[in-house]
Amino acid sequence: MDTKAFKRTLQHSENYNRKGFGHQAEVTTQLQSEYQSSLIQEIRDRNYILQRGDVTIRLAQAFGFCWGVERAIAMAYETRQHFPTERIWITNEIIHNPSVNQRMQEMNIGFVPMEAGKKDFSVVETGDVVILPAFGASVQEMQILHDQGCKIVDTTCPWVSKVWNTVEKHKKVAYTSIIHGKYKHEETVATSSFAGKYLIVLNLQEAQYVADYILNGGNSASAAAKADREEFLQKFVKACSAGFDPDQDLQRVGIANQTTMLKDETEQIGKLFERTMMQKYGTIELNQHFQSFNTICDATQERQDAMLELVQEDLDFMLVIGGFNSSNTAQLQQIAAERKIPSYHIDCVERIKSANAIEHRQLNGELAIAQNWLPNGQIVVGVTSGASTPDKVVEDVMEKIFALKALVPAL
Ligand code: SF4
Repeated sequence: MDTKAFKRTLQHSENYNRKGFGHQAEVTTQLQSEYQSSLIQEIRDRNYILQRGDVTIRLAQAFGFCWGVERAIAMAYETRQHFPTERIWITNEIIHNPSVNQRMQEMNIGFVPMEAGKKDFSVVETGDVVILPAFGASVQEMQILHDQGCKIVDTTCPWVSKVWNTVEKHKKVAYTSIIHGKYKHEETVATSSFAGKYLIVLNLQEAQYVADYILNGGNSASAAAKADREEFLQKFVKACSAGFDPDQDLQRVGIANQTTMLKDETEQIGKLFERTMMQKYGTIELNQHFQSFNTICDATQERQDAMLELVQEDLDFMLVIGGFNSSNTAQLQQIAAERKIPSYHIDCVERIKSANAIEHRQLNGELAIAQNWLPNGQIVVGVTSGASTPDKVVEDVMEKIFALKALVPAL
């Protein structure tokens, strides 16, 4: 499919909206009352530190809703106002936060159901309104909805669109897009749908494997080369474009990323491939084999930088609050884990069962219950939250800690 031409057609369609409907003032008041927190505002005003009795909270200086998420939620609320009686769907969770998605359902906005790992668009009828979430939707999904005659409200964050434009540029000059991301993540699924040839690497380790292949693997009829190639294809079977040939398709590469990955790692991966191509083809030829544009989202960068500052403090533990399928939240916890600071990733206050038990998501994705997680006596708790977490959720968690420590507010 000519994805660029399709996007142009879609954007000129009268059934397509990506700017909202002019109800900002009404929805802003509603969003403030539903998602904002006076306690958080107070902590901001106190230079991100709050002490109550034995508990000192140190809040990251950048955390919580990014503007892309706020914009997507506001557009969803506006959509409900603008189409009070129409059936409204979202192709996915609007953002990765259970309480916000719950609100969508209460507003009678449905989620396109999944059947055996595939979305069932048969529920969507002509004239229905369909919202595309902040992390976008694949071009194939957009085409299905456009062909069906739906009204499409596109809340895709402009930072994500910027990455799509980058992979389009790679495709135009027949470069393979090496995407730093998680191949199952909706944003990366969408980004790869706009790419030509692509390969998705999860981390620096996988990138190093690919770089080694570029320098030493394949490209001969020997048994060893064939085995290398088989191993490569097996390793990336779910993370590359159809018919991917590592011997042909890694000669010219460009870098792209899922916007919520660790920015340092994205940068290191970019530099690794730059060095690799320089080593293989020489400095003069580098531009014929490597392209890189900066597509790291500012909000992700700010939250990670604030977390890096926070973990310099003397903390008893870190609470990282955000949806369990939120990639940027998991990246924040990784920063704490790398520094060996006890940390708990929770998505809502209900995960705190008692002063002795907290249910949390581990870095490997599994849930676990930690016992005796809340130390006695004076404690310093670092707190941050992912880009899709409302301040209200963070407030609830802090209040619960104050309550468990059974202290009278000492402001
Ligand atoms: S984290 Fe960045 S890319 Fe993602 S929605 Fe927020 S602003 Fe946009």
